[in-house]
Amino acid sequence: MKYAIIIPDGAADEPLAELGGKTPLEAAHTPNMDRVAAEGRLGLARTVPEGFESGSDVATMTLLGYDPAVYHTGRAPLEAAAQKIPLDPTDWVFRCNLVTTVGGLMKDHSAGGISNPEARQLLVDLAEVMREPGFEIYQGVSYRNLLVYRGRQDFDLKTKPPHEIPEESIDRWLPTGTGSDILRRIMDLSRSLFANHEVNRARLERGLNQATQVWLWGQGHAPNMPAFRERFGVATGCMITGVDLLRGLAVLLGWDVREVEGMTSFHDTNYAGQGKATAAMLDKYDLVLSHIEAPDEASHQADVKTKIAAIEHIDLFVVGPVLDKLRTYPEWRIMVLPDHPTNIATRKHGYAPTPFAMAGTGIGAGGQKAYSETSAAAGGLKIERGHELMEFFLRGR
Ligand SMILES: [Zn+2]
Repeated sequence: MKYAIIIPDGAADEPLAELGGKTPLEAAHTPNMDRVAAEGRLGLARTVPEGFESGSDVATMTLLGYDPAVYHTGRAPLEAAAQKIPLDPTDWVFRCNLVTTVGGLMKDHSAGGISNPEARQLLVDLAEVMREPGFEIYQGVSYRNLLVYRGRQDFDLKTKPPHEIPEESIDRWLPTGTGSDILRRIMDLSRSLFANHEVNRARLERGLNQATQVWLWGQGHAPNMPAFRERFGVATGCMITGVDLLRGLAVLLGWDVREVEGMTSFHDTNYAGQGKATAAMLDKYDLVLSHIEAPDEASHQADVKTKIAAIEHIDLFVVGPVLDKLRTYPEWRIMVLPDHPTNIATRKHGYAPTPFAMAGTGIGAGGQKAYSETSAAAGGLKIERGHELMEFFLRGR
């Protein structure tokens, strides 16, 4: 059996007045996702369990079949796995976002989707002046970077994801708890260093959001997850994604990670290249997971036009070619689902259960015609414990 999973990150949403009461998924032209829906089954899965913050770390872990209540230690350690940063059990990892604050408000959690070379310049300069012992900065992709702590200080912290506080006062959401004074010092230091930094002066000239400081959050120790092969008996897996979080999950699951030229986390990504690569990797692997971040980023910017365009590009350039490729194998299954909703209205991740569509060998048609939040609710399958969805996808009838 060949399995393909396609994750249009944050594609699910709520009905919007500007779309005449439709959701972006309903407004988008998605003939291929609709084919999956029409030939197969639809349903809703709760990918963010009670008590967890809605984010791709928790939601993706859930849909991969791992209960976050058991395996989730924080977001940053998953991204550390992507970078293959060696961690002792007592080491701490923090997400170190480059963000834009204006007048004490969180304007942009991504510092305008800052480029890798610009991010590197800022972080190298920050590392040079940082006097806190035991901390190391690791550059990731764009604004998503990591801070590792190897030392004796214990942390018991409350931190806040910057994408969850758009336009809110940052003072309200600074780290609190044991060790938070150290994190606040590092954030303060970055604020004074980045003010008038040459990278920011150049961004200002080009009308781009400046990286005004680092924002620390998502901390945790290294997680201990059993390999996917041991857990589900699927021998080989491959992850194709533009973001480190998903690469990290793949590493922890024992899957290979395939890069695609021009793949980013934004709408400028190479959709066609990713679709081609996903289809091609099915020849080599039993399961291929293709994750596209663009709809999520568009939602955080409240950019409904780009969100719809991103969904349509995923449908045309990823789902379509992957479906065509799957049909060349005697036995196959496909599943399409966002990890979590990201709501245009709030610019935040939502907590509603995520709509999934699955089709292929042994999965009968459930009677729905299109893929959307509404049809998924009508589709009848309700998976309250979202980590049970994977077992259903792999073996359900
Ligand atoms: Zn997001």
